[in-house]
Amino acid sequence: MDPQWRRELIEELDQLKAREQLRTLSVAEAAVEPWLKLNGRRMLNMASNNYLGLAGDARLKDAAQSALEVYGAGATASRLIVGNHPLYEQAETALHAWKGNLPSQAGLILNSGYTANLGVICALVGRNDVVFSDRLNHASIVDGIVLSRAQHRRYRHNDLDHLESLLKKSTARRKLIVTDSVFSMDGDRADLAGLVALKERYRAMLMVDEAHSSGLYGPQGAGLVQSLGLQEQVEIQMGTFSKALGSLGAYIVGEKWLIDYLINHMRSFIYTTALPPATLGSIIAAIELVQRKAERRIQLWEHTQYMRSELRQLGFELGSGDTQIIPIVIGSNERTVAFSLRLQEAGIAAIAVRPPTVPENQARLRLTVMATHQLRDLEWAVAQLAAVGRELGVIGR
Ligand code: PMP
Repeated sequence: MDPQWRRELIEELDQLKAREQLRTLSVAEAAVEPWLKLNGRRMLNMASNNYLGLAGDARLKDAAQSALEVYGAGATASRLIVGNHPLYEQAETALHAWKGNLPSQAGLILNSGYTANLGVICALVGRNDVVFSDRLNHASIVDGIVLSRAQHRRYRHNDLDHLESLLKKSTARRKLIVTDSVFSMDGDRADLAGLVALKERYRAMLMVDEAHSSGLYGPQGAGLVQSLGLQEQVEIQMGTFSKALGSLGAYIVGEKWLIDYLINHMRSFIYTTALPPATLGSIIAAIELVQRKAERRIQLWEHTQYMRSELRQLGFELGSGDTQIIPIVIGSNERTVAFSLRLQEAGIAAIAVRPPTVPENQARLRLTVMATHQLRDLEWAVAQLAAVGRELGVIGR
């Protein structure tokens, strides 16, 4: 007989399918390039987080190859055992220098943004504490809060008055405010100066996730915190090497004692095998490149402005952001999926983002631009988006 648990789980899958929410895998070839092949079809790549095009850069590949040759394919153990190969020290020194070389601070490299958020939040707060979190923060932050067992106080997106009213009411032992710097599905930015003022007024800690701003803001691409001169006010700067920096892994930058504390308390750091040497090789090359070369950032912002202004003129609803992540908010799951499929037929890879990744009735297409796109490709993309948008009634004729 079919056990009940099996029927229930399969029924859930069927329901997801009926709601157009079933996720399936596609095969993506050449995804590091501005044009990729998705399930064998050539398309303009407006779906990756490789904003600066560094994932396919020869300098990152060469650095990864040399590291592999010298140190082998795997790290063999966690960092506290014998996995801390010499490239870690080099990478963390480069990270610290990139983030301003403050003598009071240090950097720590972790295996992924997801496990960094989980680990840091669990290390710093527990049962008697409270975390104030923007409603649109990334899932890894939400999961970290749940796992930490701290109270979870969600404030309305970018609404600092709401946050302050929650801070005022709280009598918890320890307060942590956490925010994305650039929001991954909305492409807008947090008011970091406003958050710093609040955290000081209420003696809270502030953690900023720079997954989508590392490499992109400030004269050396060190991120939004640094570009606003807030690196000494934000206790926990978190970021990733998996997006604009074209590799994999994450970092924390903060006061030296904080890094020591994390090394001793962060379970997702202690109980996992270290990153492979090749990854560290590419991280070191990427930090070096984003620091020295502003051209790719300049290209990215030109492309972003072009796409945003063209799409807005056509009548698409893009929200209030100004970053390289451009959401076209459509609403219903069905129409969003249809839009994404029609664009794929027309030759554009752009993903449909549906609940639970975004709130109900806010399904959207998430477009990302790359520094390595050509302007003529983007002009062509605008024409395709206009045609499909009109055909599906997303914009007027
Ligand atoms: N934080 C944010 C804001 C993200 O968008 C992501 C990735 N989607 C992560 C953390 C997780 O980073 P990683 O992919 O390196 O695990």
